[in-house]
Amino acid sequence: MTDEERKFERRTFLAGAAGAGGVALAGAALPGTAHAHGNGESIALVAPVTPADPQYPDLVMGLNNRWTATPDSVYVVDSPNQVAPIVRRAVRRGTKLTVRGGGHGFEDFVYNSEVETIIDMTNMNRIYYDARMKAVAVEAGAILLDVYEKLYQTWGVTLPGGVCYSVGMGGHVAGGGWGWLVRRNGLIVDHLYAVEVVTVNAAGRVNTIIATRDRRDPHRDLWWAHTGGGGGNFGVVTRYFFRSPGAHGRAPSQLLPKPPSKVLSSFALWSWSTMTEADYIRLLQNYASWHVANISPDSPTREVTSLIQSFHRSNGEIHMYAFVDSAVPNAQQMLDSYLAHLQNGVTPAVFAAQSTMPWLQFCKLTGTTNTLNNDPTLRGEYKSAFMKNTFTTAQAAAIYRAMTRSDINNPNLNIVISPYGGRTAAVPNAATAIPHREAAYKLLWQAQWANPADDAANIAWARETYRDTFADTGGVPVPNDQTDGCYVNYPDADLSDPAWNGSAFAWHDLYYKENYRRLQAVKKAYDPRNFFNHRQSVELPS
Ligand SMILES: Cc1cc2nc3c(=O)[nH]c(=O)nc-3n(C[C@H](O)[C@H](O)[C@H](O)COP(=O)(O)OP(=O)(O)OC[C@H]3O[C@@H](n4cnc5c(N)ncnc54)[C@H](O)[C@@H]3O)c2cc1C
Repeated sequence: MTDEERKFERRTFLAGAAGAGGVALAGAALPGTAHAHGNGESIALVAPVTPADPQYPDLVMGLNNRWTATPDSVYVVDSPNQVAPIVRRAVRRGTKLTVRGGGHGFEDFVYNSEVETIIDMTNMNRIYYDARMKAVAVEAGAILLDVYEKLYQTWGVTLPGGVCYSVGMGGHVAGGGWGWLVRRNGLIVDHLYAVEVVTVNAAGRVNTIIATRDRRDPHRDLWWAHTGGGGGNFGVVTRYFFRSPGAHGRAPSQLLPKPPSKVLSSFALWSWSTMTEADYIRLLQNYASWHVANISPDSPTREVTSLIQSFHRSNGEIHMYAFVDSAVPNAQQMLDSYLAHLQNGVTPAVFAAQSTMPWLQFCKLTGTTNTLNNDPTLRGEYKSAFMKNTFTTAQAAAIYRAMTRSDINNPNLNIVISPYGGRTAAVPNAATAIPHREAAYKLLWQAQWANPADDAANIAWARETYRDTFADTGGVPVPNDQTDGCYVNYPDADLSDPAWNGSAFAWHDLYYKENYRRLQAVKKAYDPRNFFNHRQSVELPS
């Protein structure tokens, strides 16, 4: 490390610690609710929730009810300083530790039969301007709606994060973070300036590191690994710091993107009762061809955002949402032109409406009223695909078959076809760990159900229809001219299973493509003991 890097590191660490009124904690045992002392300051440590406590059942599962855990201890932490002693204790005792951000992970990475200690970040949800970092600090337990409300109501800015209000920043940011503003403002990680992470080195020593995107920062690769490397891989993230590249000044209102003040939004509903196979294939191909033609980051059409949620025929409906910033020139014309392209040659929607509404109202409407996204009693199976090119007729026909299979009757089965491109395409694949910058749109298979007795049928639906759609490439969307791998924030354990991934591409090639080797180098540098791991965590280099 050069002298300049050393100075930079010290300055950055002190800045981050002071920003939240925190201190660096010297090693201390964890005496229940007692106070430990670090650098002369008193820090309240948190008592664990154990199986004897009434709240325990609520703290050992996330949103996907398929996954539960039986840990000895769940630590619901309040501040960054409480995290290191808990990690230190787990290292010393050799116990398996996982971290919960918002509990919205699809797989069993947090809640599984092996975990003995869980750090639950739910109460670490402060959002504030950190003057020393010249960035907006967001603690890792904050949920998306808290972030959107605080940023917009206080400073008139936002982050281009996910749609569902209750997704946690902890996992969401580390996995890339896609949402409504993707075409207009890129991914959430495109605005990530720094990350504060509690790590474990080769000697088992616990360190708190602030890693920034500053070129002089010796920890820059640790920052990079949190721009799409996925949660649960390198350490415990306690805080994210956001400042858009090129943004200057000390006012938060100048540091992050401004969302539209109002959106002109459109909703359309097609009925399965009038939808033929030819119509359906045409609808999918229309959506795809528009996004392929309008992928450019500089096109004014990056203002147009649209998503289709196609439910299984037993539901009866196919939904489409679209919006455009109502203040951009020709907003109505841009929206109408998109809708005309989508509808061209397709049976008319049975319901269509447009309305203009303020930004936060739109976020709340779309983020809080979708019962499938918010029902805490459901089980789920999920799969994803990034798409570079228009659906082939065979792929669209396979999705039609998925939606019309008569051996299953679950109205919750759906595939979401969502936008990409626009400003996302302005960033090179290697600049962030998430490498799907040439994708024009992406797909999400969602099977959700309540009764464990229905597990087999629903999981089979997702597995078989996904394999059918990508039958030409081993059952998965391999990186090629047409498809572009899978989204690490929609993790899928089947990608590691040769029974469901018959391609030559391993799970990590599908999530990370050529960025995987660099992620492995970061793993070796910051988690050489592989202390933080789950069934699809970044592996140490061999
Ligand atoms: C209903 C629903 C809607 C969604 N909508 C979107 C969307 O619009 N856009 C999008 O991009 N994604 C979306 N997702 C996916 C979501 O981004 C990922 O599931 C994300 O990883 C969830 O983060 P979490 O902290 O809530 O989940 P968790 O299950 O708590 O964590 C997920 C992973 O991240 C790790 N992790 C969490 N916090 C930390 C931390 N502080 N430090 C280190 N590791 C941590 C966990 O250990 C785990 O491996 C959605 C998911 C659901 C269930």
